[in-house]
Amino acid sequence: MNGLMMQKQLLISSLIVHADRHHGDTEIVSRRVEGDIHRYTFRDCHRRSRQLANALTGLGIKPHDRIGTLAWNGYRHMELYYGVSGMGAVLHTINPRLHEDQVTYIADHAEDQYIFFDLTFLPLVKAIAGRCKTVKGFIAMTDRARMPTDSGIPGLLCYEELIDHSSPDYAWPTFDENTASTLCYTSGTTGHPKGVLYSHRSSLLHTYAAALPDALNCSARDVILPVVPMFHVNAWGLPYIACMVGAKLVFPGPALDGKSLHELLEAEQVTLSAGVPTVWQGLLNHVEQTGQKFASMTRTIVGGAACPPAMLRMFQEGYGVTVLHSWGMTELSPIGTVCSMKTRHAQLTPQERYDVQSKQGRALFGVDMKIVDANGDELPWDGVSSGDLLVRGPWVVRDYFRNEGACPLRANGETDWFPTGDVATIDPDGFMHITDRSKDVIKSGGEWIGSIDLENIAMAHPEVFQAACIAAKHPKWDERPLLIVVRKPQSSLTREELLRAYEGRIAKWWTPDDVIFVDALPLGATGKVQKNRLREQFGDHLLAQADGETVQGACR
Ligand code: AMP
Repeated sequence: MNGLMMQKQLLISSLIVHADRHHGDTEIVSRRVEGDIHRYTFRDCHRRSRQLANALTGLGIKPHDRIGTLAWNGYRHMELYYGVSGMGAVLHTINPRLHEDQVTYIADHAEDQYIFFDLTFLPLVKAIAGRCKTVKGFIAMTDRARMPTDSGIPGLLCYEELIDHSSPDYAWPTFDENTASTLCYTSGTTGHPKGVLYSHRSSLLHTYAAALPDALNCSARDVILPVVPMFHVNAWGLPYIACMVGAKLVFPGPALDGKSLHELLEAEQVTLSAGVPTVWQGLLNHVEQTGQKFASMTRTIVGGAACPPAMLRMFQEGYGVTVLHSWGMTELSPIGTVCSMKTRHAQLTPQERYDVQSKQGRALFGVDMKIVDANGDELPWDGVSSGDLLVRGPWVVRDYFRNEGACPLRANGETDWFPTGDVATIDPDGFMHITDRSKDVIKSGGEWIGSIDLENIAMAHPEVFQAACIAAKHPKWDERPLLIVVRKPQSSLTREELLRAYEGRIAKWWTPDDVIFVDALPLGATGKVQKNRLREQFGDHLLAQADGETVQGACR
């Protein structure tokens, strides 16, 4: 017997309809590429999204067609989020930090029909314009007065003209909730990028779950500033969550330096922000140097890479900002876990709380997770056993777009699980803790050393700005930990001083064999440290030393 409840499809358009109806005068504030601050409301956003849907229809766009974007976080990108997906087409957010060859490959693979771009990316668009096989035209996200002249881009259109010439009379169509809504390519370091194709249903379920109190804890009382880009995994779902709960949105545009972010956080009274640790490093550095505080921000979501405990502590003790540590992947829409406390944690000392917060946290309802050993046998949730992390759920990838690469799922008994490539422990309370990416683990003399723990100790040193620990080849132990460090300005920290910080904090044989000081760490297109490049550059460092005379460390 079926239930007798309405069969309403879960569609992305329903989010902006809801935001308009219930939070119509709530603001969306954007720092524009043009440099000024733009502000309007959810009601305006809804109207212009409908105009955009009409404009796209006029350009011949049909359901399921892919529309690419090369854009920062801003209101026009938000209109594309709703206008494109809402009409039944597929929004393909392209990471503009990728190389032009990769962007061309991705646009071809996705068979994009049009590409919308912020003016910042004009040089990139010029480079790819003649090369993308399926793209019929490019649309500059600006007004007529600022349109580039003599760009040489065939079929170049003006966003504001398209909107102005289109009627707001548009009824969002109803269709199957399993229809594709959005496409995002993984920023894989090897092989071709792979497309993860979200559906309206998967996106809506993710939005419900991610907004909950023990997840990102978002409400109509919040002012949310996503630093995490809208061109990568839908800015962790925040543009959808804000509409669902009616939170004010603040978009930083291209200005992601500490000073610009701090100005915006203060001017718009932001309560919640979200970004990767490297962005927060810049912000914390700025407020530390200028002696500024945060007047309204009480929480910040840190994810995309492990949040160093030193950063947790600095946010909390220096600025009264609680870090919500979260883990996710492009293949998970992206949120899998968030580190929110349970009642029992209220009794903990501050240090014990930081130890819990350093973990990536508990699975959202909807995400099932487990850890397995090399044979695929499940490991206990004892907080000690570490193994490959597998997940499944309604917003986890089943197949990559157009079957790029093998089916990602690992057959395991009756059900399929997605192998994340991360190595983790899970404690009896269900808190998952990533110890490494499987390819970053350091295998020393047959034992595993987790690079994240070693980085965290370096990051806790007051003179360290950034640190990465890699596996360096070693003649005796196969691999040994090598620390690559960026010092804070004016610091003259030495190798010996830094290695002293490890004494008594880890097993002695985990101590890095050497420290290399560099001016900057290589960051990938999503702001994460590229350890593969560090391995290419410094992987033979210890071999070179061994060729010299003594082999450093190897202190077991
Ligand atoms: P991406 O698909 O580019 O978003 O990258 C996903 C990967 O980022 C995950 O598989 C993890 O290796 C890493 N990651 C994301 N969040 C965290 C976190 N909080 N701590 C450690 N690693 C993380």
